[in-house]
Amino acid sequence: MDFAPSSRAADLTERTRAFIRDVVEPVEGDYLRDLAEQRRTGDPWRPLPVVEELKAEARARGLWNLWLPKEHAGEYAARFGTDGGEGLTNVDYAPVAEATGGSHLAPLVMNCNAPDTGNMEVLLRYGTDEQRAQWLEPLLAGEIRSAFTMTEPDVASSDATNMEATAVVHGDEVVINGRKWWSTGVGHPECRIAVFMGLRDTPENLEDDPGIDRHHRHTMVLVPLDTPGVKVERLLPTMGMYDEPIGHGEVSFTDVRVPVSNILSGPGEAFAIAQGRLGPGRIHHCMRLIGLAEMALERACRRGLDRVAFGKPLANLGGNRERIADARIAIEQARLLVLNALQVIDFAMQIHGGGGMSDDHPLAGAWTAARALRLADGPDEVHQGVVARLELGKYGAKR
Ligand SMILES: Cc1cc2nc3c(=O)[nH]c(=O)nc-3n(C[C@H](O)[C@H](O)[C@H](O)COP(=O)(O)OP(=O)(O)OC[C@H]3O[C@@H](n4cnc5c(N)ncnc54)[C@H](O)[C@@H]3O)c2cc1C
Repeated sequence: MDFAPSSRAADLTERTRAFIRDVVEPVEGDYLRDLAEQRRTGDPWRPLPVVEELKAEARARGLWNLWLPKEHAGEYAARFGTDGGEGLTNVDYAPVAEATGGSHLAPLVMNCNAPDTGNMEVLLRYGTDEQRAQWLEPLLAGEIRSAFTMTEPDVASSDATNMEATAVVHGDEVVINGRKWWSTGVGHPECRIAVFMGLRDTPENLEDDPGIDRHHRHTMVLVPLDTPGVKVERLLPTMGMYDEPIGHGEVSFTDVRVPVSNILSGPGEAFAIAQGRLGPGRIHHCMRLIGLAEMALERACRRGLDRVAFGKPLANLGGNRERIADARIAIEQARLLVLNALQVIDFAMQIHGGGGMSDDHPLAGAWTAARALRLADGPDEVHQGVVARLELGKYGAKR
């Protein structure tokens, strides 16, 4: 397969790198310090003004919504996307996403961050004209944020058929009940809409209806977060980090009522939508992880050359040169296989010594983010199960 970027992708990648180098990186250190200060003073969820300034600059440079997929972007690419008026293929978006991955702020300020991109893609692919006008357009404009509420605390949610929350049609309304957690995005004050997944009827009624198979029992529905009965119960730390200003929350839904026109695609269609959403989202995460690994290796090399112990630069001590070589090889493999990025970050933390574990360097945060991705869009094991199924399927294995 030819992974050479098109001339448009090469140009956008170069412009993205220049934007991050010249505009984002110079303010990123202050941004993280200010965020830590807000945390100390008990106001961690207030978005810092610099984010809006960076968003405006990204948009002015045509580096906005670059995730928009060529096959689904339609009219939105011209209205909300890059110059050129059409979306990118995944192969062309890959180097752009990699360039953003090493920066804490770049995906957010370029309107390319999860879970909003996945939710926007759901609206692009499955939304009605009204749903798109109401929710997709402000999301594309970066005016609001969104959440995807699928995982539940009380059931093993890597098997989505376990989900117990309900979204039942009563007349011209959908009545929603249940508890979700790890709902990324709900900490942000501009988070306005949740994509909710729940059983289309009570579990008892569904048991009595053998006509509805396990993969057509759930419905996806758009729930504005200010609807009565929606409550963000708490925000969850990911290994001690709250990931402000996006955050991951536990959310309860108690007799929440929204119009049936908020259903996506139709009752029972949630599984098909979730699969359509996960594919590109997972690939975007992986591309950004490679960028994170590049950032970590660059820092490890600079630190290894600048700092001296036992009369030598750290890079020349012990097996560090071999480790640097191994890290480069791992990244090159990862660029093709999207593997091993965590080991590179781990090594970069190690060569920073005690500082690598602190917030003085972005490596501990990078490690936590990379580790969380082994669960965030479903556990690794489930994705491996799909790969094995596809492989065995070639030789006639049934599901
Ligand atoms: C930072 C972060 C952000 C997240 N954001 C969101 C979000 O925005 N929206 C949302 O809905 N969810 C989100 N999640 C939740 C995530 O999708 C779930 O944690 C994940 O799907 C696993 O579900 P579970 O936690 O219920 O684990 P369980 O289903 O209980 O699984 C536990 C473990 O069992 C093992 N296991 C499961 N299935 C298999 C299998 N087939 N083969 C082998 N082993 C298996 C795996 O080791 C797995 O980790 C997020 C999670 C994190 C950490």
